[in-house]
Amino acid sequence: MDRISELEQELAECRRKADRYRLLAEQSTDMISRNAATPDWTYIDVSPAVERILGYRVDEIIGMSGYALFHPDDADNLKKRADSVRYSRGMYTNTYRYRHKNGHYIWLETTSRTIRDEDGKPLEVICVSRDITERELAQQSTRRLARVVEAASDMILFCNHRTHQLTYINESAYRTLGLEQENPVVLYLDQLFPKQVLQEMIEPALQHAALHGVWYGSIPLLPPGSLERVAELREIIAHRSRNGNRQVEYYSIIGRDITLQRKAEEQSKRQQLEMAHMSRVLSVGEMATELAHEINQPLAAILNYCNGTQRRIEEGKIREVSEVAQAMELISRQAHRSAEIIKRIRRFVRRTDYQRILFPINETCEEVTRFLHQEASDYNIKFTFRFEGNLMVEADRVQIEQVLLNLVRNAIEAYDNQQGRERQVIIQTKQLDQHLQVSVIDKACGISEERLRGLFEPFMTTKANGLGMGLSISRTIIEQHGGQLWADSDPASGTRFHFKLPLKSGE
Ligand code: ADP
Repeated sequence: MDRISELEQELAECRRKADRYRLLAEQSTDMISRNAATPDWTYIDVSPAVERILGYRVDEIIGMSGYALFHPDDADNLKKRADSVRYSRGMYTNTYRYRHKNGHYIWLETTSRTIRDEDGKPLEVICVSRDITERELAQQSTRRLARVVEAASDMILFCNHRTHQLTYINESAYRTLGLEQENPVVLYLDQLFPKQVLQEMIEPALQHAALHGVWYGSIPLLPPGSLERVAELREIIAHRSRNGNRQVEYYSIIGRDITLQRKAEEQSKRQQLEMAHMSRVLSVGEMATELAHEINQPLAAILNYCNGTQRRIEEGKIREVSEVAQAMELISRQAHRSAEIIKRIRRFVRRTDYQRILFPINETCEEVTRFLHQEASDYNIKFTFRFEGNLMVEADRVQIEQVLLNLVRNAIEAYDNQQGRERQVIIQTKQLDQHLQVSVIDKACGISEERLRGLFEPFMTTKANGLGMGLSISRTIIEQHGGQLWADSDPASGTRFHFKLPLKSGE
């Protein structure tokens, strides 16, 4: 074969290769382009994918400046070696926004290589560009979501399902757990709960989440580094693998720092205790005359017994010391009576913390009426008890006495200026399912419908010396015990106050 036909064959082979490459470029869904190595990156040639990606026809874009279509913010990324530009083995990969023929911007990822002549002078740039708009938008929302998780006020933790290692902790969780974000530590879920809570609450919650996808509830957390903070775990989400076995791969755990909420609750509880105490002191102040009278009676009786005995001694009617014994016994009984009244008053006005104990309610009702014995007899009122069984209730005894005292005093005072009525106050207890219901009933003039509506509002009073706090405080006390206090009334039959309490607290 002579040299010419050899060259012809080589040329034909080159043409075939070039055709194959052209075909490859034309079939590619990526846009393959040749751009001038000048600052305006003029398009020299471009594959047909340009039409789908940028909206231009091939003949339209050839000769156009490639640089002009860059988003202004991304135009110099390559020059500035921005974060969106990667360099590897002589090729740059750049991610940037590029203007579509319709005017909107799309995201492109372009890998480019500069073709140089033998002296290293740039001739042109070959680019392979891919439309990554969908991927970029998805990544953007993932990044936004990650930021939301990071900055959320709730604590968010990711937990390995097998080792229980916490693989991610957001800012809020770092703060609540008393950890420093700058010095990350390896933390396990098990470190956040006492052993018993882990076994009895966390394990079942994880199992529930694994079974149903999510668990909601409230489990107290034990922040390891920060003793002053109070937090609770509220939600566990189980994430399954996307492949066939659908096994749980990790858990997302959501918790909440409730330190402020707890402090506010404690403060409100303290204020309510203080109010209740003040109201008890005021009640005793209001009852001072009756109480003084109540104490005076045994004292007068003591004086009588003493005078009588003394007189009998002087008259010589008593010769043996043993004959004084009977008088001494009577004196002692009266002294006990007045001591009992004073003890009752002191117990009632003592400032106490909230103390939940189990006590017999019927006995407490009787005790309260003893307290009001004098006031009731001043009003000529008879107490009637309708008690059911030996009902025990778990509550703060002094506070329940306070409620009863308010209700019974109001019932007594309802007979003020009332003639021709049956003057009695009925106290009734009964059991309804798991509740105890106490009713205080009077047969006085009743309460008008309008007043009944605002009855439990603070400072609602019709009494000249009333404060109007009794019913409002009583309702708060009963509600704090998980119960309810309400009233019904009519002018014909009088007023009935009822309160319901759980027989045994569920804590
Ligand atoms: P106070 O006794 O200081 O007025 P309370 O809150 O205990 O405060 O009662 C508010 C008002 O409710 C009373 O002033 C009275 O008008 C009305 N009230 C309460 N109990 C009865 C009752 N058993 N019969 C009629 N009115 C009542």
